[in-house]
Amino acid sequence: MSKFWNERVKKLEPYVPGEQPKDQKYIKLNTNENPYPPSPKVIEAIKAAANFKLKLYPDPNCDSLRRVVADYYNISEDEVFVGNGSDEVLAFSFMTFFDSKKTVFFADITYSFYKVYTNLLGLKCELIPLKDDFSIDVDGFLKENGGIIIPNPNAPTAKYIELNDIKRIIEYNFNSVVIVDEAYIDFGGESAVGLIKEYPNLLIVQTLSKSRSLAGLRVGFAMGDSKLIEGLLRVKNSINSYTLDRIALAGAEAAFKDKEYFQKTREKIIITRDRVTNELRKNGFKVIESKANFIFISHPKILAEHIFKELKKKGILVRYFNAERINNYLRVSIGNDEEMDKFVEKIKECVIE
Ligand SMILES: *Cc1c(COP(=O)(O)O)cnc(C)c1O
Repeated sequence: MSKFWNERVKKLEPYVPGEQPKDQKYIKLNTNENPYPPSPKVIEAIKAAANFKLKLYPDPNCDSLRRVVADYYNISEDEVFVGNGSDEVLAFSFMTFFDSKKTVFFADITYSFYKVYTNLLGLKCELIPLKDDFSIDVDGFLKENGGIIIPNPNAPTAKYIELNDIKRIIEYNFNSVVIVDEAYIDFGGESAVGLIKEYPNLLIVQTLSKSRSLAGLRVGFAMGDSKLIEGLLRVKNSINSYTLDRIALAGAEAAFKDKEYFQKTREKIIITRDRVTNELRKNGFKVIESKANFIFISHPKILAEHIFKELKKKGILVRYFNAERINNYLRVSIGNDEEMDKFVEKIKECVIE
């Protein structure tokens, strides 16, 4: 604390990202990174972009990348916004669309950054409790609000929400913006992007960090009615015109163009996830049905915190949240087959009676 911080900063409670340890080599299953490297074409494009042109500013409108994303989803360029990771895109979205006179809605168990943004921006929020099985309470979202954010699949539960349920929420709330955070949609869910032409209050946010193995490049994007996108551009251009550098733009474009590599790696992760889910269930674990690149697990007899600590001693990092309702669960990112075999072997040792 310092007297030089303003009152708002003194009250902030920033997001705490999963550890990136430097002390020893762990099998890292704690931050939902992709175990596979980015497409070789991405590396090529990045190398080619490292040239004399770095002395020049990048394109502030990111036209070329927006066109590539628009083509991929069969929408128009002015329905796409790109930014420095989806966390930034989400922060801009909260600033642009959420109403400080009303209350913003999100689930009680969800991505913890949402709470951080509402605090930072002085927005009021109401937490809509998930049902006992961690499914979303659609009816809870059907009342007056100043904006809604829903991740699909949800984090950290990995639970997928059917598009019909999302649709009910968007339809009822035609006077406020509904953001669907699809960070994990490529691992088996169906994107709601097909609904943006029908619903001018729907904003879809996605990232290249998970399904395209580019957490280190920092690229995220939003898709929605062109009037929503125009609002995001206004805010972005009032803070920083150049949120994406030349290297990131080149790498992101190449990632979207290499559809084959993308299909191959995401399918591998889905197969590994389903295999590990079965093995854990056979060994007495409760595993919530996942459509993400991570699973949310608990054991009926051994405490999650204990398993977390034991796994760490054995060289495996997973994520434990000491928060109400989920403090007996572990979130485990899906690594490659070798890493997951090791994980299953070690976690079995933790629960032997
Ligand atoms: C990982 C994640 C993000 C952030 O992704 P970046 O693009 O790396 O900033 C956003 N939302 C959810 C739910 C996530 O899990």
